[in-house]
Amino acid sequence: MSDTTCTCGKPTRDNAYVCETCLSELARALGEIPWTVEQLDISLQKARGVDYTTMGGSASSESPLPVSFPAFEALTNLRQVIVMWVRFCDEEAIRHQSPTTAFPKDTLVSMSRWLMWRIDGLALNDLGGDAVSEITRAVGRARQVIDRPAEKVYAGPCECGRDLYAKPKAKMTKCKGCEREYDVEEMRDWMRTAVTGRLVTAREGSTLLGRFDLPTAQKTIDSWHDRKRILDHGCNPTGARLYLIDDLIGLAANDGRMSA
Ligand SMILES: [Zn+2]
Ligand SMILES: [Zn+2]
Repeated sequence: MSDTTCTCGKPTRDNAYVCETCLSELARALGEIPWTVEQLDISLQKARGVDYTTMGGSASSESPLPVSFPAFEALTNLRQVIVMWVRFCDEEAIRHQSPTTAFPKDTLVSMSRWLMWRIDGLALNDLGGDAVSEITRAVGRARQVIDRPAEKVYAGPCECGRDLYAKPKAKMTKCKGCEREYDVEEMRDWMRTAVTGRLVTAREGSTLLGRFDLPTAQKTIDSWHDRKRILDHGCNPTGARLYLIDDLIGLAANDGRMSA
C-alpha cells in the first residue's frame, strides 16, 4: 500500500490523488456555477444598451454601452475550463455515479452538474488535483467580478443627447457634456413613464430593468412566466413572448424588497 499525498500537501484516503478537503472545495465551486453564471449574465445585461427603436419607441441618440469586459472574460474563462474538464472526463472515461451516461447540454449549468457526478472519479485520476485548482480558480475569478462594487449605472439621456451615468445610490448626476444636473430618482421615474405600457421581450425587459436599477436575468423573467406570476401578451414576429414592462417592473421591485 502506497501513501498518497494531495497536491495541497494533505494525506488522501483510499489511495486517491485528491484529499477530502480539496474534493469538497471542488464540489462547492461546481455547485456555485449556476448562480455565478446568472450573476455574470446580469452584469452583461446591465452593460448592454437598449434598442428603443425595436420597441416602437422614439429613437433617441442611444448608443449601445460597452460590454462589461471583466464579466465577459470571467464567463469565457469559466467556460473554457469547464469544457476542457468535461472533455477530459469523457476521454478518460472517468468513473461516475450518474444514472445516465448521456453527454451534458452545451451550457455551464448542465456541464457543472455533469461534472458533479464525477468528483469521486476525478479523485482517482492523477490529474484530479489539476481539476480542483483550475475549476476553483475559474469560479473564484468570476466571484471577484460579481463581488466588485457596482460600476456607474445608466441614469437616462441628457437633453443634450449624451447618456447620463450615476454612482449606485447617488442622488444627483451631472452631464459630462453640458454640465446640466439631474435628480437620479426623478430621471428614473421619467424613464419608467416613457416606457410604460410597452410590450417587451424577456431580453429587452432584462436590459430595461437593469437600467431602472432592478437587475433581473432574462431567465428569471422566463421563470416568472413558467410559474404564472406574469402573463404574456402574445409573441413578436420572431416568436419571443411579449410582456408588459409595467408587470416586470412591479415584480422586480417586489422581489428586490423581499430579498433586501
Ligand atoms: Zn488537498
Ligand atoms: Zn448634457
